[in-house]
Amino acid sequence: MSFTTCNILGVPINNVNLNEALNLVLLYLEENEKKMIFTPNPEFVINALEDKEFMEILNKSNLNIPDGIGIVIGAKILGYNMKERVPGYDLTQKIFSKIKNTNKTVYFLGASEETITLAKKMMEQKYKGLKIVGTHNGYFKDNEGNIIIDEINKVSPDLLLVGLGSPRQEKWIYNNKEKLNVKVMIGVGGSFDVMSGNVKRAPKIFIKLNLEWFYRLITQPTRFKRMLKLPLFIIKVLKYKIKGDKNERTIKK
Ligand code: UDP
Repeated sequence: MSFTTCNILGVPINNVNLNEALNLVLLYLEENEKKMIFTPNPEFVINALEDKEFMEILNKSNLNIPDGIGIVIGAKILGYNMKERVPGYDLTQKIFSKIKNTNKTVYFLGASEETITLAKKMMEQKYKGLKIVGTHNGYFKDNEGNIIIDEINKVSPDLLLVGLGSPRQEKWIYNNKEKLNVKVMIGVGGSFDVMSGNVKRAPKIFIKLNLEWFYRLITQPTRFKRMLKLPLFIIKVLKYKIKGDKNERTIKK
């Protein structure tokens, strides 16, 4: 399976649609090599430009899906024709529907204890036959990391979903990759909040019009400051397009 990679200000984003991303994950689940999957949006790119370690980690993943319409727009400005936006949440749902009733297992790490317990219950109800073999909340101290890794390794899930917020989740995955006895690791941001039902996805019309970001802004106004990174991202992309930018890094894949 081959797909092109778009260089968005130094962050490699794979030009895949939802089904292609799903097929890659299913393929990765059959392989023995550990795989890291991230879901960059404009905020990731802005953060990575200021955080060298984060930028390097995003360059070392096996698959980066275009999560966020800002990425698709930025790619277009830079001359790439990105197929579509692929929200991380949608990818998790597609994976669940494919692996339910198989021997593949999944572990949820992240969010509050209440949310993660509810997310497990809701997903088991929605995808009958899905094997969620463990959960752990995302509010742990750095020195508790090894206990959690032991817990995960006891059940050695095929798929590990990590929702600790970005860039903590990407750094956690990268730094613990060697110790973890899992096949595929995905950074899923706030997906457990949606799975639990505590946070609602935008109504379909907003998604269709690529206005999901606007829905989140009006329903969660506390995200306003974070959302300012979206126009900043577009400005940086335009600046790069017009005169090139020193911040751009080469992609090593
Ligand atoms: N979170 C966590 N541990 C932390 C900080 C955050 O588990 O130390 C969780 C938080 O409960 C939420 C998710 O990480 O479920 C991050 O959500 P956010 O909305 O920031 O993610 P996004 O989807 O915007 O990437």
